[in-house]
Amino acid sequence: MLEVSNLHASVADTEILKGLSLTVNPGEVHAVMGPNGGGKSTFANVLAGRPAYVVNSGSVNYFGEDLIAKTPDVRAKEGIFLAFQYPVELPGVRFWQFMKAAVDAKRKHAGEKELAVREFDNLWKEKATQVKIDPELISRSVNEGFSGGEKKRAEMLQLALLEPKLAILDETDSGLDVDALRTVATSVNELRSPDRSFLVVTHYQRLLNYLTPDFVHILVDGRIVESGGAELAVTVEDTGYDRFIKAGVS
Ligand code: ADP
Ligand code: MG
Repeated sequence: MLEVSNLHASVADTEILKGLSLTVNPGEVHAVMGPNGGGKSTFANVLAGRPAYVVNSGSVNYFGEDLIAKTPDVRAKEGIFLAFQYPVELPGVRFWQFMKAAVDAKRKHAGEKELAVREFDNLWKEKATQVKIDPELISRSVNEGFSGGEKKRAEMLQLALLEPKLAILDETDSGLDVDALRTVATSVNELRSPDRSFLVVTHYQRLLNYLTPDFVHILVDGRIVESGGAELAVTVEDTGYDRFIKAGVS
């Protein structure tokens, strides 16, 4: 599904990713962990196609096609979803309309008809219940006045509605209390399926107490320095990143 090989990428003329390779098969959950500043968000942004993130060399294949050649909107329509580390507020843009437009755009790209208002509204309510977000909250503008935890739940609602093939969660756990953390993990677990993969980017191991990844990768200084199973996250919890940082710079 996703094959990243020897990826080098820069932001503002500084090389951040320095030869990152990673393969994700359908249905797998991969955790990408690492110290702050290691390039985790850069990697997530490069996959989503955020402007200003420049790929210098290497390749990213997504279902056998060159992902980097596609514009961000096409990537999204073809099933890539990024839940932001810092979700933005969009005052004046109603959440309901924003999501209907997004769902319709995706449907159109797949040659399907737009949803009728009633059809989308039913879906909206069903998914809001699934991710346990307050209906009053989402009658507002996108993220406007939401708490940190509410913004993260709102990201999960978007994920549930857009049904991506590759969902990238960038530190969706940061700033969450235990209840919100559990809701996020439960949403992800419910949304797991044989044809949907997750890249869960996290600094801390605690999200992984509720969400067992198939693979864990340690990203240090723009490269994956170690990969393993779920037990690798436990090692990180016990020993921190020091040992990997030393390995990374050697
Ligand atoms: P992580 O998510 O692992 O904490 P980031 O990918 O956010 O790491 O950052 C990696 C490095 O890239 C940091 O040194 C950071 O300062 C730099 N960086 C990230 N985004 C930008 C940007 N938009 N402009 C300049 N530097 C950036
Ligand atoms: Mg980050």
